[in-house]
Amino acid sequence: MLITSVFNTIESILNSSSNTYICLVRYFIDVILPIPLIKLFTYSINEEEAKFILPGMRVAVPFGKSKIYTAIVHSVHESKPETYEAKEIHQILDETPIVTQEQLTFWQWISSYYMCSLGDVMRASLPSAFILESETLISRSKKELSSDQEITLTDDEFVVLEALENQSALTITEVSKILNKKQVLKPIKALLGLGYIQLREEIYEQYKPKLVKYIKLKEGYDKEEALIELLEILSRAQKQKEAVMAFFSLKAGNEQPIKAKELEERANVSTAVLKALVEKEVFEFYYIQTDRNQFLNETENSKILNEHQEKALEEIRQVFAIEKPCLLHGVTASGKTEIYVKLIEEVLAKGKNTLYLLPEIALTTQLIARLKNYFADKIVVFHSKYSVNERVESWQKVLQNTNTGQVIIGARSSVLLPFANLGLVIVDEEHEQSFKQFDPAPRYHARDAALVLAKQFNAHIILGSATPSLESYYNTTKGKYGLVELKYRHNNVLMPAIELVDIKDKHKRKRMTGHFSDVMLKAIHEAIENKEQVILFQNRRGYSPIVECGTCGEATQCPNCDVSLTYHQYRNELRCHYCSYAIAMQHACLSCGSPELDTKGFGTEQIEKELTELFPDLKIGRMDLDTTRGKYGYQKIITAFEQHEIDILVGTQMLTKGLDFKNVSLVGVLNADSLLNFPDFRAHERSYQLLSQVAGRAGRFDKKGRVLIQTFNPFHQILQQVSSHDYLSMYKEQLEQRYIYKYPPTNRLLKITLRHRDYNKVNTGADWFATSLRNVFGNQVLGPEFPPVSRIRNEYHKHILLKMPINQSMSKSKKAILKIQNSFMSVKDFRPIRVVLNVDNY
Ligand code: ADP
Ligand code: ZN
Ligand code: ZN
Repeated sequence: MLITSVFNTIESILNSSSNTYICLVRYFIDVILPIPLIKLFTYSINEEEAKFILPGMRVAVPFGKSKIYTAIVHSVHESKPETYEAKEIHQILDETPIVTQEQLTFWQWISSYYMCSLGDVMRASLPSAFILESETLISRSKKELSSDQEITLTDDEFVVLEALENQSALTITEVSKILNKKQVLKPIKALLGLGYIQLREEIYEQYKPKLVKYIKLKEGYDKEEALIELLEILSRAQKQKEAVMAFFSLKAGNEQPIKAKELEERANVSTAVLKALVEKEVFEFYYIQTDRNQFLNETENSKILNEHQEKALEEIRQVFAIEKPCLLHGVTASGKTEIYVKLIEEVLAKGKNTLYLLPEIALTTQLIARLKNYFADKIVVFHSKYSVNERVESWQKVLQNTNTGQVIIGARSSVLLPFANLGLVIVDEEHEQSFKQFDPAPRYHARDAALVLAKQFNAHIILGSATPSLESYYNTTKGKYGLVELKYRHNNVLMPAIELVDIKDKHKRKRMTGHFSDVMLKAIHEAIENKEQVILFQNRRGYSPIVECGTCGEATQCPNCDVSLTYHQYRNELRCHYCSYAIAMQHACLSCGSPELDTKGFGTEQIEKELTELFPDLKIGRMDLDTTRGKYGYQKIITAFEQHEIDILVGTQMLTKGLDFKNVSLVGVLNADSLLNFPDFRAHERSYQLLSQVAGRAGRFDKKGRVLIQTFNPFHQILQQVSSHDYLSMYKEQLEQRYIYKYPPTNRLLKITLRHRDYNKVNTGADWFATSLRNVFGNQVLGPEFPPVSRIRNEYHKHILLKMPINQSMSKSKKAILKIQNSFMSVKDFRPIRVVLNVDNY
């Protein structure tokens, strides 16, 4: 990057100004610091700098006693702060802005809508490599210390100097350790004043672009005579001669630079051979920065749409024409993705860019492979499993708005990228709750933010789903969005037949083998006989969520959280899914010592184990959080399943979303009841979505699929609606409930969570907060109430819920809430309590 060169030029400007800088301070910048304080901070700059600095550039600024932060310039101005003396900036870190003006506007919206600081948004947006690390370092100066001067030093000062004899530099923290004191600024300042030490701010850029080694002929050897001479010299070194010959054959008719690796392969020689030639000054190596996220260059034409897709596409264009967001409600495997492809092509033809949002990175593997076929290197991907460096590269590509990077694919946080020229936003699987960030701030919903983003850019936006969220569907009925429907699967494959299996009855009649009903087992056998594949869904990972004592009835609990530990047989461990606390599986009850421990409930591991016993000849795979860690975790499993190296894939909700496997004819749900009974106002809507989505993985390509849902409750209205593919009944019934109980989409929710280690403190704090809220909002306030898991990582959580009518002014309400929060914080006793505001806590 250019940063180092900027350092040098800028540093000279800074050094010349920093000490003699007493006269008029006329120029200032407001900056965003990556901290959760709401306001902007003002620093002073000189005229030279004022001419150079633009909003969106990074500057290093001092903050507090010894910290240096990376800040983003928000504005350059000439108004002096009234209440404090503006400090000087430390360094300018960019030559050109890395954050765009549009982003700053968008960040502002997120910060005010979701009630968080701009610093929170900045932190969520920038790849961490952009936010430099800093530690103040001190080192010994050149000034000598004579023995009579030594006597005048205090003990602390002396100890620090002595330590610096042995170590070239110390951080403030280290000094504090050596002196065994918190306050170490006094001796350091004194030593600075005496000139024995100097401060050094060590700021280091973490980002290192990947360099690729290339090889070329040294000057002079490109002439024929020189070459013949050269080959003679080399005639005794056969390998080297081959390398030179291979170089020329690679070079022939090719203007491209030649990679050292490429040459090694072509000539079939080792690196040592090339090195020898470099030493003989025949060749030289050079390096070019390359892109970590390079894609292939071959493309194929997009698919010819079927009549239903054509019609839908035309309707989408009509919705776009009247400048409305469009909801595409298309059943699973109706070919929504192929329609998006057409929309992207149209936008590209206009020279504009597309943002393609996905709910989860598990999905990107397949989608990238699909889209790469059409758009090759126009695609840029941004996701959290990418390394820091890859993320910086993606950021730069989007920022520079070049030909590579016109189609930006990513999960939630990619709405925060530095877009330019955005023409289209696609939110795929718009109903997914993973679009909402819960922790930390900004607690934004990427779909909702994307709507605002699209508006800001005058871009079209399409939300797609087979099972739209109640919000989005509601918006179509209110005329806010256009609705386009796609009711048929591609190839006119029929929707899968969904059967409910009553396992209460199966248990009674002893037709269960482990967690499998006879129907399920038979169906698996049939699918396998037809050389088809099976997906089994169980929404819990691990072996079993509860280990209970048969004698005293105690379940093994997490010491830090109010939940029982989950048994993971694979690692023979008991693990907390909230805080990751883990102990070895116990052989006796921790309370009474009885060896009679039972497992209760079941997770994916247990299903996997039962399957290996039931079908010893089949290959069983498992896809859940435990098997998909690491960058290529998902990819390995998905590819293995695609290539039929796995017959039965067991997994949690992560395999329900948008995956497209051609050979799956059977999908089994082992137990639907835990979904339905989840304590959340959205549990029914979510169950419908999850079950319909997982069912949608069956029979996607040519043959009608089959879905079996095991349940104790086959008459549950949601299961009935799932099995009859009746989205509209589900929608109407749920909307009615939301209306009665004042939940979204007819009301707006804001959840306030108070957190502290002390149970009583949380209680009194929450009561105070709720009472103050009631004074303003009356019976719109619910709680305070402890959630089902009230203690997490040794902190008690207590919730207060605000249900506000949709037409109530949000900005006024938020102002009132912030005012209450401020008064709360000014009570000394309450100050240590963490208050978390979550807007649209869907
Ligand atoms: P959805 O996104 O609606 O779930 P997909 O776009 O994944 O559906 O389509 C399901 C399958 O059908 C995919 O394998 C896709 O390639 C194929 N498909 C969809 N439309 C077409 C078409 N017009 N021509 C050929 N294949 C298609
Ligand atoms: Zn016991
Ligand atoms: Zn825990």
